Amino acid sequence: MSTQTKIYEGKAKILYTTNDSKILLADYKDDATAFNAQKRGSIQGKGSMNCTISSKLFQQLEACGIKTHYIDSPAPHQMRVKALKILPLEIVVRNIAAGSLCQQTGLELGTVLKQPLVEFYYKNDQLQDPLLTRDRLFLLELATPEQVDTMTHLALQINKCLCDFFGRCDITLVDFKLEFGLDSQQQLLLADEISPDTCRLWDNSKGSDPNLRILDKDRFRRDLGNVENAYQEVLQRVLKAVKSN
Ligand code: UDP
Repeated sequence: MSTQTKIYEGKAKILYTTNDSKILLADYKDDATAFNAQKRGSIQGKGSMNCTISSKLFQQLEACGIKTHYIDSPAPHQMRVKALKILPLEIVVRNIAAGSLCQQTGLELGTVLKQPLVEFYYKNDQLQDPLLTRDRLFLLELATPEQVDTMTHLALQINKCLCDFFGRCDITLVDFKLEFGLDSQQQLLLADEISPDTCRLWDNSKGSDPNLRILDKDRFRRDLGNVENAYQEVLQRVLKAVKSN
């Protein structure tokens, strides 16, 4: 009898149990969705590319002293991770104005923020992942004040580590989304993935027009073409930067 049971299928990954109850296997899919799954498609090779990029970034973060759920990657599209209780929160860190920040505040696309902005969103597809205030987050008991402070601190540390790393890839980290989970000791660990699906990544070698620099899922969201090539470019630059570590 197979010891692997599918326990969850999300938009980008399938999670399986393993022989060890403390370990799960994440299988990264080529499926792509945007706008709360109203737009659906597939990006050829995305599963393997995102899994490999995520694996390298988690290892990079561990080297920066950040605890993550990453264990290892037994195949290019598979990652073994620590089983955690995932908090229903999406923590977004922004260095440059883009996406919903521009839409909701009127800030011009590409505005460099004086300091990184950390935002908490409610991970709830039915409610379309609304932006939370601190009081709403506590009202819904989504995390304790101490956990919010820890996640904010970790998010800023992660941002610093990733900005340095992507800088070595000649890429600007515009913004990204994080998820955290609790282990059996109630310790907060970084979970989910960090990839062109969950980050905005702009190529530094392509001049100043933000729209010509996009190397992330915005190419899919906005039908800009060359989606696979952009993900492949990120992968190659990440692998090169890791090699020169
Ligand atoms: N993001 C994500 N999953 C979500 C929402 C956002 O990975 O469900 C990422 C997105 O790719 C971007 C950052 O979080 O890098 C900020 O996204 P934003 O709030 O601007 O929303 P969007 O414009 O993507 O709808």
